[in-house]
Amino acid sequence: RQQVRILGVPIDIITEEETFQKLVSFLDAEGEALKKIYTPNPEIVMVAQQDPELLKALEDADLVLPDGIGLLIASKLKGFGLKERVTGIDTMDKLLTYCGEQGKSIFLLGGKPGTAEIACKNMGNKYRGLKIAGFHHGYFQEMDEVEIVEGINKAQPDVLFVCLGAPKQEKWVNKYKHQLHCRLAMGVGGSVDIYAG
Ligand code: UDP
Repeated sequence: RQQVRILGVPIDIITEEETFQKLVSFLDAEGEALKKIYTPNPEIVMVAQQDPELLKALEDADLVLPDGIGLLIASKLKGFGLKERVTGIDTMDKLLTYCGEQGKSIFLLGGKPGTAEIACKNMGNKYRGLKIAGFHHGYFQEMDEVEIVEGINKAQPDVLFVCLGAPKQEKWVNKYKHQLHCRLAMGVGGSVDIYAG
Protein backbone atom coordinates (compact mmCIF):
# COMPACT_ATOMS: atom_id res chain seq x y z
CA ARG A 1 0.00 0.00 0.00
CA GLN A 2 1.36 3.35 -1.09
CA GLN A 3 0.24 6.59 0.48
CA VAL A 4 1.05 10.25 0.22
CA ARG A 5 0.43 12.94 2.84
CA ILE A 6 -1.43 15.96 1.51
CA LEU A 7 -1.41 18.71 4.14
CA GLY A 8 -0.73 15.98 6.65
CA VAL A 9 -3.63 13.79 5.55
CA PRO A 10 -2.82 10.31 4.26
CA ILE A 11 -4.25 9.54 0.82
CA ASP A 12 -3.77 6.26 -1.04
CA ILE A 13 -1.91 6.29 -4.33
CA ILE A 14 -4.26 3.99 -6.19
CA THR A 15 -6.26 3.65 -9.42
CA GLU A 16 -9.97 2.85 -9.79
CA GLU A 17 -9.18 -0.68 -10.88
CA GLU A 18 -6.75 -1.26 -8.01
CA THR A 19 -9.37 0.10 -5.63
CA PHE A 20 -11.93 -2.38 -6.89
CA GLN A 21 -9.48 -5.30 -6.52
CA LYS A 22 -8.70 -4.19 -3.01
CA LEU A 23 -12.37 -4.04 -2.05
CA VAL A 24 -12.90 -7.53 -3.44
CA SER A 25 -10.01 -8.80 -1.34
CA PHE A 26 -11.47 -7.05 1.72
CA LEU A 27 -14.81 -8.74 1.10
CA ASP A 28 -13.17 -12.14 0.77
CA ALA A 29 -10.99 -11.79 3.86
CA GLU A 30 -12.79 -13.85 6.46
CA GLY A 31 -12.20 -13.30 10.15
CA GLU A 32 -10.39 -10.00 9.75
CA ALA A 33 -11.18 -6.70 11.44
CA LEU A 34 -13.60 -4.26 9.82
CA LYS A 35 -12.11 -2.54 6.78
CA LYS A 36 -12.75 1.21 6.68
CA ILE A 37 -12.89 3.17 3.44
CA TYR A 38 -13.23 6.94 3.08
CA THR A 39 -13.23 9.31 0.14
CA PRO A 40 -12.15 12.77 1.32
CA ASN A 41 -12.33 15.77 -0.96
CA PRO A 42 -10.09 18.85 -0.55
CA GLU A 43 -12.51 20.50 1.93
CA ILE A 44 -12.24 17.50 4.20
CA VAL A 45 -8.47 17.48 3.92
CA MET A 46 -8.60 21.10 5.12
CA VAL A 47 -11.00 20.24 7.96
CA ALA A 48 -8.77 17.36 9.10
CA GLN A 49 -6.02 19.80 9.95
CA GLN A 50 -8.13 21.38 12.67
CA ASP A 51 -9.88 18.19 13.66
CA PRO A 52 -7.70 15.54 15.35
CA GLU A 53 -10.58 13.09 15.64
CA LEU A 54 -11.15 13.19 11.88
CA LEU A 55 -7.43 12.91 11.17
CA LYS A 56 -7.26 9.88 13.45
CA ALA A 57 -10.13 8.23 11.57
CA LEU A 58 -8.38 8.86 8.25
CA GLU A 59 -5.09 7.55 9.59
CA ASP A 60 -6.81 4.43 10.82
CA ALA A 61 -8.54 3.77 7.47
CA ASP A 62 -7.73 0.83 5.23
CA LEU A 63 -8.28 2.91 2.11
CA VAL A 64 -8.42 6.68 1.67
CA LEU A 65 -9.47 7.36 -1.90
CA PRO A 66 -8.44 10.49 -3.78
CA ASP A 67 -11.92 11.87 -4.46
CA GLY A 68 -12.20 15.47 -5.60
CA ILE A 69 -10.37 16.83 -8.63
CA GLY A 70 -8.63 19.38 -6.38
CA LEU A 71 -6.50 16.65 -4.84
CA LEU A 72 -5.37 15.51 -8.28
CA ILE A 73 -4.52 19.06 -9.28
CA ALA A 74 -2.54 19.57 -6.05
CA SER A 75 -0.81 16.28 -6.68
CA LYS A 76 0.17 17.27 -10.21
CA LEU A 77 1.49 20.65 -9.09
CA LYS A 78 3.44 19.26 -6.16
CA GLY A 79 4.38 15.87 -7.58
CA PHE A 80 2.59 13.83 -4.93
CA GLY A 81 2.16 10.96 -7.38
CA LEU A 82 -1.60 10.38 -7.23
CA LYS A 83 -2.58 8.30 -10.25
CA GLU A 84 -6.18 9.24 -10.93
CA ARG A 85 -9.33 10.45 -9.29
CA VAL A 86 -11.25 7.67 -7.54
CA THR A 87 -14.69 8.89 -6.58
CA GLY A 88 -16.85 7.50 -3.81
CA ILE A 89 -19.90 7.21 -6.04
CA ASP A 90 -18.15 5.32 -8.87
CA THR A 91 -16.49 3.02 -6.36
CA MET A 92 -19.81 2.41 -4.66
CA ASP A 93 -21.43 1.59 -8.02
CA LYS A 94 -18.75 -1.00 -8.84
CA LEU A 95 -18.91 -2.47 -5.36
CA LEU A 96 -22.71 -2.77 -5.53
CA THR A 97 -22.50 -4.49 -8.93
CA TYR A 98 -20.00 -6.96 -7.49
CA CYS A 99 -22.09 -7.51 -4.36
CA GLY A 100 -25.08 -8.30 -6.58
CA GLU A 101 -23.07 -10.80 -8.62
CA GLN A 102 -21.86 -12.47 -5.45
CA GLY A 103 -25.21 -12.34 -3.63
CA LYS A 104 -23.74 -10.15 -0.91
CA SER A 105 -25.73 -7.89 1.35
CA ILE A 106 -25.58 -4.24 2.29
CA PHE A 107 -26.86 -1.96 5.03
CA LEU A 108 -27.39 1.73 4.34
CA LEU A 109 -27.10 4.17 7.22
CA GLY A 110 -27.85 7.86 6.74
CA GLY A 111 -30.01 10.43 5.04
CA LYS A 112 -33.29 11.92 6.11
CA PRO A 113 -36.01 9.57 7.41
CA GLY A 114 -37.45 7.72 4.42
CA THR A 115 -34.57 8.42 2.06
CA ALA A 116 -32.45 5.35 2.85
CA GLU A 117 -35.46 3.11 2.28
CA ILE A 118 -36.08 4.57 -1.19
CA ALA A 119 -32.36 4.39 -2.00
CA CYS A 120 -32.28 0.72 -0.99
CA LYS A 121 -35.32 -0.07 -3.10
CA ASN A 122 -33.67 1.58 -6.11
CA MET A 123 -30.40 -0.24 -5.47
CA GLY A 124 -32.23 -3.55 -5.25
CA ASN A 125 -33.77 -2.85 -8.66
CA LYS A 126 -30.55 -1.63 -10.23
CA TYR A 127 -28.13 -4.28 -8.98
CA ARG A 128 -29.35 -7.77 -9.74
CA GLY A 129 -28.74 -10.21 -6.91
CA LEU A 130 -27.97 -7.55 -4.31
CA LYS A 131 -29.36 -8.30 -0.87
CA ILE A 132 -30.63 -5.40 1.21
CA ALA A 133 -29.90 -6.35 4.82
CA GLY A 134 -31.33 -3.12 6.20
CA PHE A 135 -31.29 0.64 6.41
CA HIS A 136 -31.60 3.41 8.99
CA HIS A 137 -31.88 7.16 8.68
CA GLY A 138 -29.02 9.37 9.81
CA TYR A 139 -30.75 11.74 12.21
CA PHE A 140 -30.35 9.90 15.48
CA GLN A 141 -29.23 10.89 18.97
CA GLU A 142 -26.00 9.64 20.46
CA MET A 143 -28.00 7.58 22.95
CA ASP A 144 -29.55 5.63 20.04
CA GLU A 145 -26.21 4.62 18.58
CA VAL A 146 -25.73 1.38 20.49
CA GLU A 147 -29.13 0.22 19.31
CA ILE A 148 -28.28 1.17 15.73
CA VAL A 149 -25.02 -0.78 15.87
CA GLU A 150 -26.94 -3.77 17.26
CA GLY A 151 -29.48 -3.42 14.45
CA ILE A 152 -26.71 -3.44 11.86
CA ASN A 153 -25.10 -6.50 13.42
CA LYS A 154 -28.41 -8.35 13.60
CA ALA A 155 -28.96 -7.64 9.90
CA GLN A 156 -25.52 -9.18 9.18
CA PRO A 157 -24.59 -7.12 6.12
CA ASP A 158 -21.34 -7.71 4.25
CA VAL A 159 -21.00 -4.00 3.52
CA LEU A 160 -22.11 -0.97 5.51
CA PHE A 161 -22.50 2.31 3.64
CA VAL A 162 -22.46 5.30 5.99
CA CYS A 163 -23.99 8.50 4.63
CA LEU A 164 -23.86 10.97 7.50
CA GLY A 165 -21.82 13.54 5.61
CA ALA A 166 -18.14 14.21 6.27
CA PRO A 167 -16.62 14.37 8.85
CA LYS A 168 -19.45 12.83 10.86
CA GLN A 169 -19.44 9.52 9.00
CA GLU A 170 -15.67 8.98 9.34
CA LYS A 171 -15.82 9.65 13.07
CA TRP A 172 -18.86 7.43 13.52
CA VAL A 173 -17.27 4.46 11.77
CA ASN A 174 -14.06 4.92 13.71
CA LYS A 175 -15.97 5.10 16.99
CA TYR A 176 -17.76 1.80 16.37
CA LYS A 177 -15.13 -0.08 14.35
CA HIS A 178 -14.68 -2.70 17.09
CA GLN A 179 -18.42 -3.23 17.55
CA LEU A 180 -19.49 -3.45 13.91
CA HIS A 181 -19.52 -7.01 12.59
CA CYS A 182 -19.34 -6.54 8.84
CA ARG A 183 -16.55 -6.87 6.31
CA LEU A 184 -16.30 -3.28 5.31
CA ALA A 185 -17.70 0.14 6.09
CA MET A 186 -17.53 2.92 3.57
CA GLY A 187 -18.29 6.60 4.13
CA VAL A 188 -20.12 7.81 1.05
CA GLY A 189 -21.69 11.15 2.01
CA GLY A 190 -24.62 12.23 -0.08
CA SER A 191 -24.85 9.09 -2.20
CA VAL A 192 -27.98 8.02 -0.31
CA ASP A 193 -29.69 11.05 -1.87
CA ILE A 194 -28.30 10.22 -5.32
CA TYR A 195 -29.62 6.66 -5.13
CA ALA A 196 -32.95 7.87 -3.78
CA GLY A 197 -33.18 9.90 -7.00
N1 UDP B 1 -26.84 13.41 7.09
C1 UDP B 1 -27.30 12.51 8.04
N2 UDP B 1 -27.17 12.84 9.36
C2 UDP B 1 -26.64 14.01 9.77
C3 UDP B 1 -26.14 14.90 8.80
C4 UDP B 1 -26.25 14.56 7.46
O1 UDP B 1 -27.81 11.44 7.71
O2 UDP B 1 -26.57 14.23 10.97
C5 UDP B 1 -26.96 13.04 5.68
C6 UDP B 1 -27.68 14.04 4.81
O3 UDP B 1 -29.08 13.84 4.93
C7 UDP B 1 -27.19 13.66 3.44
C8 UDP B 1 -25.81 13.05 3.71
O4 UDP B 1 -25.69 12.97 5.12
O5 UDP B 1 -28.00 12.66 2.89
C9 UDP B 1 -24.63 13.78 3.14
O6 UDP B 1 -24.70 15.11 3.45
P1 UDP B 1 -23.81 16.18 2.68
O7 UDP B 1 -24.18 16.21 1.26
O8 UDP B 1 -23.85 17.42 3.49
O9 UDP B 1 -22.37 15.52 2.86
P2 UDP B 1 -21.17 15.29 1.84
O10 UDP B 1 -21.69 14.42 0.71
O11 UDP B 1 -20.76 16.65 1.38
O12 UDP B 1 -20.16 14.59 2.67
